[in-house]
Amino acid sequence: MFDNLSDKLDKALHVLKGHGSITEVNVAETLKEVRRALIDADVNFKIAKDFTNRVKEKALGQNVLTTLQPGQLMVKIVKDELTELMGGDASGVNLSGNPSVILMSGLQGSGKTTFSGKLANFLKTKKTKKPLLVACDVYRPAAIDQLHVVGDAIKVDVFSDRGNQDPVAIAEAGIAFAKANGHNVVIVDTAGRLAVDTEMMDEIANIHKAIQPQETLFVVDSMTGQDAVNTAKAFNDILNFDGVILTKLDGDTRGGAAISIKSVVDKPIKFIGTGEKMEAIDVFYPSRMADRILGMGDVVSLVERAQEQFDEEEARKLQKKIAKNQFGFDDFLKQIQQVKKMGNMKDLMGMIPGAGKMLKGVDIDDDAFKHIEAIIHSMTPAERTNPSVINSSRKKRIGKGSGTSVQQVNQLLKQFNQMSKMMKMMQGGGGRKMMQAMSR
Ligand code: GDP
Repeated sequence: MFDNLSDKLDKALHVLKGHGSITEVNVAETLKEVRRALIDADVNFKIAKDFTNRVKEKALGQNVLTTLQPGQLMVKIVKDELTELMGGDASGVNLSGNPSVILMSGLQGSGKTTFSGKLANFLKTKKTKKPLLVACDVYRPAAIDQLHVVGDAIKVDVFSDRGNQDPVAIAEAGIAFAKANGHNVVIVDTAGRLAVDTEMMDEIANIHKAIQPQETLFVVDSMTGQDAVNTAKAFNDILNFDGVILTKLDGDTRGGAAISIKSVVDKPIKFIGTGEKMEAIDVFYPSRMADRILGMGDVVSLVERAQEQFDEEEARKLQKKIAKNQFGFDDFLKQIQQVKKMGNMKDLMGMIPGAGKMLKGVDIDDDAFKHIEAIIHSMTPAERTNPSVINSSRKKRIGKGSGTSVQQVNQLLKQFNQMSKMMKMMQGGGGRKMMQAMSR
């Protein structure tokens, strides 16, 4: 995420980070570089200029040149301003009303349908709500099918009316259906066009007027940079929406949309989409995003994701198994699956401070676990519970079955043994024994 921008900002601020002497001249030079980095990331020129002016003012106000660590202070000022530019404090969605009605707007392909599903899934699991998805795209039958597929995947009901060509009537019928069936959140997915046109704007304005949603969200593809900002402005003029959803932040986005959108429409970014899967949704925290942009990682989000996937009951069971020496490959597989649920590897790595920079250009294979999973799947249940029975003929069979080599099977068995030993030691005598074993 934002690799290029992070890189350039890092280079720009490097001079001030404790290297060489700091003068008014190199502060000005640094800010010029910061501005260039922002413009290269597709941030609007005026926004970038105002940004560096504010940083400069603050820096002068805080006598940056005479403090002990001027470099650090500059980074902090840039971080604070970046946070402010992206929206200050995080804000949630308005769930008042019964049902609470959420209207989705945006261009075709921006990720509305996918995000409608993600949001329904998020509200269902995090807020224990009972959402209903309503399909109002009457132009593309495939769009209705797509919403049904999404609904099935996350086990959320979908309301559609294929014979009906009136999106306002469908939206109203959807809300009536929700009331009759105990759904307390209604997410209305609407039709988009490839570009802003009056027909689409009239239609969404009519739906908005008829259903009076508690929350109107505008979905935008972050890859589209300044175009995203212009589209946001057009939709906001008509709908006066409540918040922005930035999708496809997992891609090769330059960052312009994330940085500029708030100051153009004065509406907060509420969520981000970071992948095609239903779990790839994150609440948008401006300050955490600023950390990531400045290459400081985002440990808070990383820990949160781990906690979300952490199942206390499972953990207790696992502990018992380790204590009884019963940890097998099935448990190992479960662990891998939990890690995978946390998100794609590159994204996770980017949350570790410094790692993003170090791993730049390294191709992180998201299927890193594929071989391991294939090998485990080729084992018999008995082999999984008791790996010591795996002799050389079994190894050959497992290798063949999983499309890997005996060498790869051996490697996995070795890793598994080491891991089991380590787990046992952590259970028993604690860290000291483990340290001894590791230093051998
Ligand atoms: P709609 O026309 O606005 O409803 O857009 P869709 O929900 O159909 O999304 C368009 C395409 O973008 C689909 O192929 C989605 O899988 C993909 N997509 C949506 N959100 C994301 C995201 O956050 N990351 C990535 N990589 N792809 C996404």
